[in-house]
Order: sequence, then C-alpha cells, then structure tokens
Amino acid sequence: MVSSVETAEEFAGMDFDLTEEQRAVQELARDFARGEVDPIVEEIDEAQRFPREVIDKAGELGFLGILVPEEYGGAGLGYVEYVAVITELSKVDPSVGISIAAHNSLCTNHIFKFGDETQKRRWVVPLASGKKVGAWSLTEPNAGSDAAGTQTHAEKVDGGWILNGSKTFTTHGSVGEICVVFAVTDPQGPRHHNISAFVVEKGTEGFRTGKKENKLGIRASDTAEVVMENCFVPDENLLGQRGDGFIQALQILDGGRISIAALGLGTAIGAFETARDYAKQREQFGKPIAHFQAIQFALAEMSTRIAAAEILTYAAAEAMDRGRKVSQLASEAKLYTGETAVFCSERGVQIHGGYGFVKDYRAEKYYRDAKICTIGEGTSEIQRLVIARSLLRA
Ligand SMILES: Cc1cc2nc3c(=O)[nH]c(=O)nc-3n(C[C@H](O)[C@H](O)[C@H](O)COP(=O)(O)OP(=O)(O)OC[C@H]3O[C@@H](n4cnc5c(N)ncnc54)[C@H](O)[C@@H]3O)c2cc1C
Repeated sequence: MVSSVETAEEFAGMDFDLTEEQRAVQELARDFARGEVDPIVEEIDEAQRFPREVIDKAGELGFLGILVPEEYGGAGLGYVEYVAVITELSKVDPSVGISIAAHNSLCTNHIFKFGDETQKRRWVVPLASGKKVGAWSLTEPNAGSDAAGTQTHAEKVDGGWILNGSKTFTTHGSVGEICVVFAVTDPQGPRHHNISAFVVEKGTEGFRTGKKENKLGIRASDTAEVVMENCFVPDENLLGQRGDGFIQALQILDGGRISIAALGLGTAIGAFETARDYAKQREQFGKPIAHFQAIQFALAEMSTRIAAAEILTYAAAEAMDRGRKVSQLASEAKLYTGETAVFCSERGVQIHGGYGFVKDYRAEKYYRDAKICTIGEGTSEIQRLVIARSLLRA
C-alpha cells in the first residue's frame, strides 16, 4: 500500500506498491511535514504567511526539484515519488502541499520541458535546487476555464517583446522570483495557436504584483495578481516556438492535475485521520462516539473513497512515469480526489460536532482547504469535459 491509511495488508499485492527507495522518499516527506510544518500550521494559516523558511528547507531535501534530473539541480525522481511527497505534505498542511506542487509541476516543469539548454541552465537550476521560487501565470480575470481566451498581449519589438495585461490567482504571484507568463503573440492567429509562453523574472521593469488574495483556505500559500505594464522581455525569454504556449500549457496541466490529485488525497487522509482519532476519544452517552454506527459508517465511507482516490492517483502517476498519454486519467484522478477531499473534510467537521466549527481542531481547516481541489487547475466541471471529450473521441 502506498499511503499511510493503515490498510497495508488489504492492498498487499497491488501493482503499484512503493519500492523501498520510494518508501524512503515518502518517509522523508512525512518526517519533514511533522517536524517542520506541523508546529506552525495554525500560525501561518491565521496570518496568511507564506512560510519561506519551510520552502527553503524543503529545497535542501530536493523537494523543489523532484521531477528534474540531478544535472539540472533536481532530485531526478518520478511522478510516483512526487505524489508521495505532495500527499505527505498535504496531510499536514495543504497550503504547503499546493505551494510545492505549483513550484514543481507548473513553473519548473514548464521551463524544463520546453526550455532550451541555456534556459534550463539559467532558470531550472535555481528553481530545482530551491534557490528561487517559481510561479506560473495562465489565468486572467476574463480567462479562467476558457484559458484560450487570454487577453494579455505581447508585441514584437526589436530584440524582444513588450507584455501588457494582468493575471489573476497566480500561486506565488507575490513571492515568486521566476514566473512563466502566457500572452497572445498573434492576435489574428488561430485560437489555441496564438499564445506564447515567456519567462519573466521578479524585478523586471513593468512587472509587478497586484492584489494579494484573502482566501477561504490554503491561506499560507501565496496567491496574487500579476501585472505587466509595458514590460520588456528579450527574445531569449520565449519558451519553445511562438504560438505554442497554449498547447504547452495543456501538457503541463496533465502533470499539474496529478499534483492536485495528490493534494486532494493528502487533504482527505488528514481530515480522515483527525476525525478517526477524535471519534475514539470524544465520549457522549457514556461511550466514545466511535461506538455509534453512524460515526463508523461515516469513517468507513471516507476510508473507502480515500482508497479509491489513492489507486487512481498512483495509477496516473505510474502512467506518467511510463510515458503514457495521461490526460483522461489525470483528469479522472483530479476529479475524484478533489471531490473526495471535499467529502471527507465535510464528514470530518460533522464527526467533530461543534468542535469541528471552531479552530481548536484542524477539522475546520481541512474543510476550508479542501475546496481548492475542485477549482484549481481546472474545476470539476472542466475535468468532466476533458474526460468526456476523451471518451467520445475514441
Ligand atoms: C487559490 C488559487 C490558486 C490558483 N493558482 C493558479 C496558478 O498558479 N496559475 C494559474 O494560472 N491559475 C491559478 N488559479 C486559477 C484557477 O485555475 C481558476 O480559478 C480555475 O481554472 C477556474 O477559473 P475561474 O476562476 O475563472 O472560473 P470560471 O471559468 O469563471 O468558472 C466559473 C464556474 O463556471 C463553470 N464553467 C466554466 N466553463 C464551463 C463549461 N464549459 N461547462 C461547465 N461549467 C463551466 C466552472 O466549472 C465554475 O464552476 C488558482 C486559483 C485559486 C483559487
């Protein structure tokens, strides 16, 4: 069994048992989450503080370059290890889980996949080795689910491009130091082939952070608007071919959706474990509430959905590591784990009764944090569209 849902025996013999090395990575992440993240969860949530010191330490362990080969400063691991790390972090704090996920699978992975050798040396190395924090700006105020409706514009000038526009909801929009930004480079070009991806570094003239969001959940993960006003970037900052940006984004989102599946899985397990432990110690009518069948059934339903979510998530990760086409599977994993995280965190609050409604226990935080899993990197509705399109194409 790949997780710590303590059902190892039940799943013995499944194909995607973790290897000894993968288990060691999982344990490293678990210890890190317990030792470095757990003590500050409430403080960073309340203050909406991005815990840079935790992210720096995660970098020292290789967690900021999980998928990147060692020659570019990364850990050289695969999606299975990546899922194990994001799940362990998200069990303790989904804010830290999503930050590390966005840094790895969106920004760093995009430059690694589509950058040339010079671009990789210049940007992937500092990102993967944890020296710089990455951001990936696709969403705009008027282009969310319909990302092809991007309005940010890049005008070709001598030696480079001038970017104008704004991006909303960028994870690490205010703390990110290296940002991948999408802009229309061919306004008259065909839809899906008129957008390009650029790297913009913090400190570039005309590039600034806009509104920092005050969020329902994952409050310690920095989310902000990114604004470009006559922002010049040289030709060397264009990633891949002009006009390929949207197609690149779709490929990056396949991996990103596996990230969010891991985030949802960790959040669901965290909510489940918190509720199970509470049910064993909270007494009413002279016995622990875990003795009541209603509570037992809720725990059983949570555990069953977590097991299914886990199988889907690791299946998607394994398929990715084997180089298979994963769009449908990644969307299925993201859809199911996202909904599972919301379900489990809601049940978790219910099992805690009134104590689930206050901040003395983490149940209420999982409830708030879980919701991003059905929204970020494509809402549940968009995942259904992707899955249905793939089914009907066959
Ligand atoms: C905390 C947070 C972090 C984020 N981080 C990033 C990031 O790092 N980078 C980035 O680029 N973006 C990021 N996002 C943006 C995120 O990916 C979008 O919010 C998401 O894709 C939805 O877009 P939208 O908010 O514009 O909603 P809309 O697209 O306006 O959707 C509104 C509602 O309409 C539904 N809907 C839309 N179209 C259809 C359709 N065709 N069929 C059925 N239903 C439909 C949606 O499912 C949703 O329920 C982040 C968002 C949040 C909240």
